[in-house]
Amino acid sequence: MQDLYKKFKDYGKVRLNEPLAKHTTFKIGGPASFFVTVTETNNLVALLTLLDGKGIEYFIHGGGSNTLASDAGFAGVVIDVKTRNTEVQDDVFIADAGCVTVAVAQKSMSAGLTGFEWGVGVPGTIGGAVRGNAGAMGGDMKKDILKVDVYIDGEVVEMTNEACEFGYRESAFKDNGGVILRAYLQLKKAEPDAELMKKALEHLQYRNSTQPKGFASSGCIFKNSDFKIQNAECLDTLREFDAEKMEQFEKIGKISAGWLIEQAGLKGKKKGKAEISETHGNFMLNTGGATADDVLSLIEEVKQEVYERFGIELEEEVSIL
Ligand SMILES: Cc1cc2nc3c(=O)[nH]c(=O)nc-3n(C[C@H](O)[C@H](O)[C@H](O)COP(=O)(O)OP(=O)(O)OC[C@H]3O[C@@H](n4cnc5c(N)ncnc54)[C@H](O)[C@@H]3O)c2cc1C
Repeated sequence: MQDLYKKFKDYGKVRLNEPLAKHTTFKIGGPASFFVTVTETNNLVALLTLLDGKGIEYFIHGGGSNTLASDAGFAGVVIDVKTRNTEVQDDVFIADAGCVTVAVAQKSMSAGLTGFEWGVGVPGTIGGAVRGNAGAMGGDMKKDILKVDVYIDGEVVEMTNEACEFGYRESAFKDNGGVILRAYLQLKKAEPDAELMKKALEHLQYRNSTQPKGFASSGCIFKNSDFKIQNAECLDTLREFDAEKMEQFEKIGKISAGWLIEQAGLKGKKKGKAEISETHGNFMLNTGGATADDVLSLIEEVKQEVYERFGIELEEEVSIL
């Protein structure tokens, strides 16, 4: 243990038995045996190489805004990615994985680039956003990524947008275990003007009016469901609830998970100190002292209830550690 502690110190700040609840937006999670904060990409690669060489388990932590960490914590190394260099090359904005997504949106606008305004309301880091193909207000990483630098199978490689296999809240990194080191956003040149800022502020105002405030959460717990894969009987049942809403869902190709949860009468449902938000059915709130087990049992209940009522299987968007 002492040996490992000394080794890890070569790469960044090391904390032992660090409570993950201090680092997740849910404010939930037991201790990580080692919590190593890395600020340089070369140190990140060196640490990953060391851990892979020794067969030590690790988990990548970005902003912790899409992670539900277990109450038992993590018996391994949590790598806290705080690499934050940015660079502009013509109309490409380059951001290290640890850059805060909101800051990248702001900096790209200040650099006279347009296309990433939607990022102003998404918590967490660029690395987390690439892995989950984060998106908001019609934009997503898939639309903006030119390429990424990735650590995978002991090597640093460049992957094109196509190779990232982006889908709705999906990417190849969820399966291949690749660690995103740097993202290259292909944007367009435009003078930073009042119109751009107005668009960004509208994004923020819309989000503030539709999402709960004042409690810890990890954003949406479930992915929205694919309209096309639902059977006719299930769609007819849902049309009986709200035909107009279903018409909107058909157009966008997704059935809102929050809406399904609301129609199932689950808003406000509690387990221990975890509660389904009254404002947004797809948000679960830590009302103070909630455990991961509280949230997990609420997740199970929601999945079961929505399946029994509508025949739709909800799938988690949140990463469970
Ligand atoms: C209030 C609120 C609102 C939100 N709104 C939105 C929204 O509008 N749209 C949206 O898409 N999401 C939203 N989210 C969810 C979340 O912000 C995004 O999923 C975000 O991109 C996660 O980034 P992160 O750095 O916090 O990821 P983390 O929670 O740190 O990690 C999530 C997963 O990604 C992995 N990961 C992190 N960094 C890397 C890396 N460099 N390489 C490989 N894997 C990595 C982790 O291991 C983990 O499995 C919201 C969350 C909150 C709390």
